[in-house]
Formats: sequence, C-alpha cells, structure tokens
Amino acid sequence: MDPLGRKIDYLRIAITDRCNLRCQYCMPEEGVKSLSQQRILRYEELIKVVQVGARLGIKKVRLTGGDPLVRKGVVNFVQMLNKIEGIEEISLTTNGLLLEEKGQGLLEAGLDRVNISLDTLEQGKFREITKIGGFKQVWAGIEKALELELAPIKINMVLMKGINDDEVFDFINLTREYPLHVRFIEFMPIGGKRSEQEEKYLSIAELKRKIKEREKLLPSKFVIGNGPANYYRVAGASGTIGFISPISNHFCTSCNRIRLTATGYLRPCLCSDDEINLKELIRNNSNQERLMERFLEAVTYKPKQHHLGEETSLVKHMSQIGG
Ligand code: SAM
Ligand code: SF4
Repeated sequence: MDPLGRKIDYLRIAITDRCNLRCQYCMPEEGVKSLSQQRILRYEELIKVVQVGARLGIKKVRLTGGDPLVRKGVVNFVQMLNKIEGIEEISLTTNGLLLEEKGQGLLEAGLDRVNISLDTLEQGKFREITKIGGFKQVWAGIEKALELELAPIKINMVLMKGINDDEVFDFINLTREYPLHVRFIEFMPIGGKRSEQEEKYLSIAELKRKIKEREKLLPSKFVIGNGPANYYRVAGASGTIGFISPISNHFCTSCNRIRLTATGYLRPCLCSDDEINLKELIRNNSNQERLMERFLEAVTYKPKQHHLGEETSLVKHMSQIGG
C-alpha cells in the first residue's frame, strides 16, 4: 500500500532499453545510446528484485523495454520468474516483430499473455511511424499469439492526429474479426519537441465523439489486468475496444503499479523522473531486508497524480522507462 491507500501489486520491468524499431513518439530516429551490459541488471539481479517485490505483495509482472524480445535469454528469464512464489501472472508488451519466433517458447516458459503495439494497418505508414518497418512480421506475431491463445491479447494503438486517426474504424473492425482487445492510447509528451507533440495529440473524448457518429459503443464487462482502460464493444464483436487517457483524464487514483528501469532504478510513477536506485544495493550484495526497505521507500514516493501535458514533459524517452 502506498501512503494514499493505493494497492501496488503490479511491477513493470524494462529488461532492456534496446529496440528493433524507432517509433517516432518513443525514441529519436538515431536511437538512444544503448546502455552497456554492465549498466543493465542481469537476469539473476532482476530475479532478486522480483523476489523482494513478491514478498511485499507484487502479484503481476510485465516485461517491457525497449523491446523485451530483443534481449537474449528472455524465454529462460520467464521460466525463472514463473518459479517465484507469489507471482500469479507474467505478461509482456512487445512490438510483435519477434513474437512469431519466440511465442511458443514463451508460452512453454509460463508467459500468460501479451500486449502488442500496433499503430497502423498500412505497411507504408508502419515504416514511416517506426522508421524501420516490418508490418507483415508484426502481423505474423499477432497471428501466432492468437494461435497460442496468449490471451487476452491487447493491441495498443497510440493515437496521432493526422497520422493514424483515419484508421480508427479499421482497428474497430479488427475486434469484429478477431478476439483482440484494441486500446486507443492518448499520445504522451515524452522526450522530443513539445510543439510537434501538441499537433499530434487527440483526446479520447474527441475520438469517442468521432466513433459514436458511426458505431454504437456497448458497455463491456472486460476488465482483465486491472489496468487504466475503459472497455466497450461493438455489436457482433468477439474483441473489445479500450480507451486510455493518461493526459485528459488520468487514472492516478487507481494506479496499482511501479516500474523498474533497465538500469535498475525503481520508478514510482511513469510520468515523474524521480527514481530510486536498487542496482547499487544489489551490486553491494545487500540483504533482502535492505532491498525491501528501499522498495517500500519507492512506493511512498508515488505522487498523488502526474502533471504531464500541463507544464511538463519528461527527460527520458519511453523506451528507457518501458511505457
Ligand atoms: N517495445 C514494446 C512495445 O512497443 O510494445 C514495449 C515498450 S513501449 C515503450 C510500451 C508502450 O508504450 C507501447 O505500447 C508504446 O506504444 C507506448 N508508448 C511509447 N511512447 C509513447 C508515447 N509518447 N505516448 C503514448 N504511448 C507511448
Ligand atoms: Fe521500440 Fe516499443 Fe519504443 Fe516502438 S514503442 S521504439 S517498439 S520500445
């Protein structure tokens, strides 16, 4: 519990800052300078953090990054996580490029489900947004996740005005064709130039107005994951539509998460650059009790709410924090 009574049972771990894409809203085109292996926590070190978290009440772990699937040994790591007492769910968020190749191994290692990020269904636009491309490979990854039933499978679509807002109805149609849960996410001003970011921002309220002109949004009971999305469905669909509005209507009062960066810092809030160094303790062979104290300290730093979109944008890029 944090001092405001929020129950923190969800740990998001950025296992790498590296990525095989360069999404324009997440990292600069030239990429961020990759961290040396020495600066990144080793898997055994990450396991120590999760063991401490589990003793304090963490029940769910999500691997993110950078792209978690580019880090060697990720399948083995999932297997190690799966053995930690108290961890009830292991999931990951990926761009999907390596999911076709690694999905089966991950499932066998104990992965429960995946979220896949996909901002467009058009190949050319995919290349423009990601600077690298690979739409077909991502789609093959989504098909693999469906085949393996790494469900519920959520598709994260970051809304960008003038870039992909014309595809909203195509994404809604995906929920008719497949049991996919499409989540529209407001663009967050992280890294990059403020003016460009403002141009691209589209609020969820505006999006809903646009959708309601053509579609009837039915309430959905879909709540898996305790996350920030509100879910709806359209008639005849097996999937759902979720809306995530970190900027216009933040969900800080029900926030249940804490983050671990690739460099081993606990980050109490995605939108605040305050971080607590755990790596130092781990590398100094501190005992579990000391780590637990530091973990609890981090939880006390969780702010009541964030102010992103008002006066601040963040120093770090999303790929370094894990989203
Ligand atoms: N590489 C993985 C992926 O893309 O799914 C995991 C890491 S990525 C940083 C995690 C999530 O953050 C993705 O769904 C991505 O779309 C989202 N994200 C990154 N930058 C964002 C931004 N500026 N605003 C909103 N969402 C963002
Ligand atoms: Fe990589 Fe994910 Fe960031 Fe895109 S959003 S650059 S896939 S970390």
